[in-house]
Amino acid sequence: MTHKCKSGRHAWLFEEDAAKCCNGFRRMLVFNDPKACDSVVLNLLPGGVSYGYRWEPV
Ligand SMILES: [Zn+2]
Repeated sequence: MTHKCKSGRHAWLFEEDAAKCCNGFRRMLVFNDPKACDSVVLNLLPGGVSYGYRWEPV
């Protein structure tokens, strides 16, 4: 079960993500700052670099 964003072009697992997508926020990739992310990807990049995503107002 996924949720479509406002534009209908993207699908999200969580309703709160769908509510922000294409609705004044954009998804930003963040490196080496897990606390700043609302979703951290657990697989590390080569060299142990962690990364994740957060919403930022456009
Ligand atoms: Zn969208």
